[in-house]
Amino acid sequence: MKGLMQNWPLRVSSIIDHAARFHGEREVVTRSVEGPIVRTTYKAIHLRARKVAQALTRLGIKEGDVVATMAWNTGRHMEAWYGIMGMGAVCHTLNPRLFAEQLVYIVNHADDKVIFVDLTFVPILEAIQDKLPNVKAYVVMTDRAHMPATKLKGALCFEEIVEAENGEFKWAEVDENAACGLCYTSGTTGNPKGVLYSHRSNVLHSMAANMGDALGLKSSDTILPVVPMFHANAWGIAFAAPAVGAKIVMPGANMDGQSIYELLDKEQVTVTAAVPTVWLMLLQYLEKTGAMLPKLDRVVIGGSAAPRSMIEIFEKKYDVKVFHAWGMTEMSPMGTLGALKGDMADLPLEKQIDVKVKQGRAIYTVEMKITDDDGKELPSDGKAFGHLMVRGPAIAGAYLKGEGGNILDKDGWFDTGDVATIDESGYMQITDRAKDVIKSGGEWISSIEIENLAVGHPKVAEAAVIGIAHPKWDERPLLIVVLKEGQSATKEEILHYMDGKIAKWWMPDDVAFIDEIPHTATGKIQKLALREKFKSYKLPTATAAE
Ligand code: AMP
Repeated sequence: MKGLMQNWPLRVSSIIDHAARFHGEREVVTRSVEGPIVRTTYKAIHLRARKVAQALTRLGIKEGDVVATMAWNTGRHMEAWYGIMGMGAVCHTLNPRLFAEQLVYIVNHADDKVIFVDLTFVPILEAIQDKLPNVKAYVVMTDRAHMPATKLKGALCFEEIVEAENGEFKWAEVDENAACGLCYTSGTTGNPKGVLYSHRSNVLHSMAANMGDALGLKSSDTILPVVPMFHANAWGIAFAAPAVGAKIVMPGANMDGQSIYELLDKEQVTVTAAVPTVWLMLLQYLEKTGAMLPKLDRVVIGGSAAPRSMIEIFEKKYDVKVFHAWGMTEMSPMGTLGALKGDMADLPLEKQIDVKVKQGRAIYTVEMKITDDDGKELPSDGKAFGHLMVRGPAIAGAYLKGEGGNILDKDGWFDTGDVATIDESGYMQITDRAKDVIKSGGEWISSIEIENLAVGHPKVAEAAVIGIAHPKWDERPLLIVVLKEGQSATKEEILHYMDGKIAKWWMPDDVAFIDEIPHTATGKIQKLALREKFKSYKLPTATAAE
């Protein structure tokens, strides 16, 4: 028997409609690329998104066409994003930190027809435009006064083409399963692969992300997403916040400690989200200046593992609740979030932090399990670790144009490429990327756990651990350290600090000090580059074993 409820398609245009209708005066504040702080509202964004849709229609864009953005988190980016999706086109967020060849590949592979571009990134596109034959127009996201003298062919001024329209546009009534967003994974090997989100998957993800034990956003919240809209949809925040009418504060191009602090402080931000490297910069700024964050209630940390020391400083010194989150582009992107369960509220803070160090519990709609190499499910006992497998309505079923072939197993599970444990209460902890795990004497050593411990040393700014070939053990861990500015330390000092805090056989065989650890376009440690750099490295223990 069929249900008799209304067939109300889940389209992302309904999110901005809702925000404009019920939270119309709620602000979206941006540190603009041109410099000043700019204020707008959901009502104004709603109107201007419809003007964007009209302007794109005038440029010949139709339902199903792909329109790209290469832009920071700004109010204008939201207008472009909702305009593109609302007219039934696909919004492709380009990551400007990718190499030129990768960008050329991605733009052509996606068949981008128009690219919206922030002033900062105009030179990037000027340099590659001759290799982008299908791009018909570039829209520079600024006003006439700031239009650069650009070599971009068919360059248009955002404010001019938007303000030439009247906003009388009816959102496209596309099927809820139609594509609306596209984001390429920054794979370390091979070409990047396109993850194609649907209206339905984005709406479901926003609702799941907004649940109390997930982001838990409310209309009274002010959220600052430092995580870029070009990195996995800003973790869904550009959908989740308007869905509840939370005020958004957009950081634009400046993510240094001082700029982020100023916005957190002046705009009275209650929730914020970013990768650990951003928080490292903020915490260093706070330490230097003695500034505090009285209004900030919670901080979401994800994208890479949040070190225990970082969680402790936020919780103890600044009285800010930390939510450790894990996800991936293929998951829209949220998979888990580390809210405490009810009975944990009475635990002493140290015990609570033991839980918060883990990446958290699956949010509703995400199914999750760990398996051994043969695909057999492993117990959720917090000890067994295996391949982390996921399933759900906002998780990729295939990559764009079938790249990578069939990515699901026979029961529909997607292998995340991460290795993890899951404990009895359902808290998952990432131990490594499958390809980064260190195999020592047939056992696995978690590089992430050692890194997190090492950054707890007061002189260490950043740490990475890689496996180095060893004649007896196959591989042994090498700890690579970047010291805080002006600090010096010995290998013995660092190892002494770690001694007794991890299993003896997990202790690194050596420590190498370097000036900078390379990062990927999404801010993760580039282990591949480190392995390359240290490929001829000889561990002192290897010489002894030979
Ligand atoms: P991306 O698709 O660029 O967001 O990268 C997804 C990958 O980032 C995951 O598969 C994990 O390897 C890693 N990742 C994301 N969040 C975390 C976290 N909280 N702790 C450890 N690794 C993480």
